[in-house]
This record gives sequence, structure tokens and C-alpha cells, in this order.
Amino acid sequence: MSQPVNPQFISDTVDALASDLVRFIQTLVQTPSLPNHEHAVQGLIAEELRRLGLDVDIVPSRFEELRRHPAFNDDGFDPEGRVNVVGRWRGAGQAGGHSLILNGHVDVVAPGDPALWSASPWSGTVRDGKLYGRGACDMKAGVATGIFALAALRRLGFQPAGDILMESVIGEESGGIGTLTTIIKGYTADACIVLEPTGLDLCPLQSGALTFRLTVPGKAAHAAMRQHGVSAIEKFALLHQALLQLEADRHAAYHTDLYDDPRYVAPISIGTIIGGEWHSTAPERVVAEGRLGVFPGETTAEARQALEEAIRRVAQADSWLCNHPPSVEWFEGQFEAGTTDLSHPFIHTLSAAHRAVLGSSPRVRGVPYGADLRLFTNHARIPAVLYGAGDVSLAHGVDESITLADVVTATKVVALMVARWCSDTGQQSAEEGMQDYDTALRRDDA
Ligand SMILES: [Zn+2]
Repeated sequence: MSQPVNPQFISDTVDALASDLVRFIQTLVQTPSLPNHEHAVQGLIAEELRRLGLDVDIVPSRFEELRRHPAFNDDGFDPEGRVNVVGRWRGAGQAGGHSLILNGHVDVVAPGDPALWSASPWSGTVRDGKLYGRGACDMKAGVATGIFALAALRRLGFQPAGDILMESVIGEESGGIGTLTTIIKGYTADACIVLEPTGLDLCPLQSGALTFRLTVPGKAAHAAMRQHGVSAIEKFALLHQALLQLEADRHAAYHTDLYDDPRYVAPISIGTIIGGEWHSTAPERVVAEGRLGVFPGETTAEARQALEEAIRRVAQADSWLCNHPPSVEWFEGQFEAGTTDLSHPFIHTLSAAHRAVLGSSPRVRGVPYGADLRLFTNHARIPAVLYGAGDVSLAHGVDESITLADVVTATKVVALMVARWCSDTGQQSAEEGMQDYDTALRRDDA
């Protein structure tokens, strides 16, 4: 049996690597990687993984291999020429050692008007312990966390029993084609940490989201004689009211203590409305587009049915809509919810590693937004959590930033987690973690 890696050694080694870690995040942020343009940053990551001595695969995302998969979302981006990077640290294959995927995405959302930023969105400026730039928080710091956790363990001479995969993927923000590619290609492990910014909370649940289009018919008439027409805007208002009620009813029926705000686990929101042709004509049509949240444990079919039924009920009770029913289309993003069982041993091990580094157990919670977690849990049967440094409310905004001390902490936790989970003492450390984790849950109940 190999010697368990000492948490203090890991901590000291990560501290010694901290300035390299910051420089690496800076370089990643300074290399823009909007969807379809992730090539340069993936090249840097592949180079870094090779420098660590990992076996590196360059894995292209190809439309023809993806499009038939049920989880594929054709988001309008051209996936041709886009690559994912997978670094493999091969385990010795001893009994007891688990394998692990560390996953992060390099694509970032558009920075918006650069004039609103204090410095260029691609500056990577460090100020008061924070690093600024698009993708700093979501989630180039997360990708760097995984790579530097492995760098620290290489330096300590750690020998994993099970394989460790470091995946740097594309296309997460627009539906997850990068992670889906790795799943289709057969990359697998006993567990996965998606290194998204969770403020170092442990998040084994995520809600889903379905995009819909609602078309509401009316009847045009001169505004001065509007009693001869039917305003599609007024009919839409009825439907909108019903959607707000549906949102409230669905949440009243869903019981959880794992979400920050249990009223918004799976929100329903209208994002755009187009209606009417002219100010003095009763509007003959409204087209509204929105997003329906999916609860953890709910299928996308069940969620769609709930919305369609709510629309149908309103239509049946209305003298116009019952003969001119509104239509519902489902288009673009159709993202499932994802869940990992809270009692899974890998969650215990991660919780214990967090406690060893921070002195207290992590908060366990679900997140209301989409991430690649669902692809692992639903389409690869790999238990997965979101865990990483950074405040997700800073993601996608102006002056996005990451607190560097938190990235260093996350790197220590992930390194210790890898050292325990992937060593031949993995089973034992999972059992030790169980006790710690039960304590955390009891605290959450209190
Ligand atoms: Zn992200």
C-alpha cells in the first residue's frame, strides 16, 4: 500500500506553485476564447499538460458524430475545427484506487461593450488579490485549479492507483458539445469534479432549462373599433399570468433544503416579446420566447408537459383562445437537470478533503443554472459535482474577477481529493470522509 499524501505537504507545494498558477490563469485570460475560437487557449493547455508528463489527446468535436446524440444541442455554432484536450495520468491499476475526471470549459461568453470595463476584458490584470477579465471566474481559474493540483502531486512524487483525466473542453456555455464529445469518445472514470465557480460549495445537483416559443393569435382591427378585434397582447397577458402561477405551484410542490432560494429552483421566465404591427391596430399576433426550469429528478418531457398543460387550461377557459389556441415550440437549448446521490463515497471524500484544508465542512447545495454536470450523470453514468473557487454572480458580467487566494485553496482541496480518491487507500479515505460528511449534513439540517 502506498503512503497517503500528507495534507501539509500538499498545502506547502501548492503555495510554492502559487505564483506560477496566477501567471497561468493570466495567460489563459489574455488568450480570448469565444465560441468557435478556442484553439489558441487549448494549445496552451495541451502544452502545459505535456510539460507535466501527462498523455495528451486532442479530441475534435465533430458535428456528424454529435448530432444524433439525445443530449446534443445545435446552438447555431459551427463545431467544425473545435478541439478538446484530455490529459491522462495513468494509474498503476492497483486495487482500491478509483479513477477521476477533472473537467473545465475554456469557452467564454462575449464581453459586451469593452468601454464599460475598467480595463480590457482580456487584460488579466491583478489588483487587490483579484484577477480580472472575461473567463477569469467562469472558468479559466477552474481549469488552472485542476492542472495545478496535478502539478503539485507530480512534484510530491504521488503515484495514482486509478487513472486521472484532466479535460479541458469547449462549447459549455452554448450547450456542452465539448464534454459530450469526450463522453461519446468513451472517456470515463468513477467520478468527476466539474471545476465551475461555486464559492467552494459542493454542488451535486443542478437544475435544467428548456427554451420555448409561445405564439398567441389575435384578430387585427382598427384601434378605434377594437371591440371588433382581439388583442393578442391582452391574451398573452392571461398566459403570462398563468406561467407565473405555474412557477409558484411547481415550487410549492418541490421540497428541498439544498437550494439558496427554494422559490427559484426551476424558474420560468419570458425573455423576449414581439407583438403588434402598428400603434393604432389591435395586435393580431404575439410571439414570446422564454425559459422553463427543470427540477432535479424531473425529466424534460415532464417539464414540457406541465407548461403545455398550463397553456391549454387557459386557452380552454377563454372564448377566443379555445378556437384559436396558442402554440408552444421547443427550440435551441434543451438542457436536462442532473443529480448525484449525496451519499456517494466520492462526495464524502471531497467533503473530507475540503474539511482538511479549510477546517470546516463545505456547504452542500444545488445550483439553478445549467452546467456540464448533467452530461456526466445522465449520459455517462458518472457521479459528478460542481466544485471550485469563484462567485458565479460575477461570471458573464462586466469586470468579471476571481479571488486568487480562493483559487489556491481550491487547488489544495482538489489535490488532496485526487491523492485520496485515486490512491490505493481510496476506499479507506471514503469511509473516513463519510463520518465527516454526515456531520456536515446534520449541521445543514440544524
Ligand atoms: Zn462555466
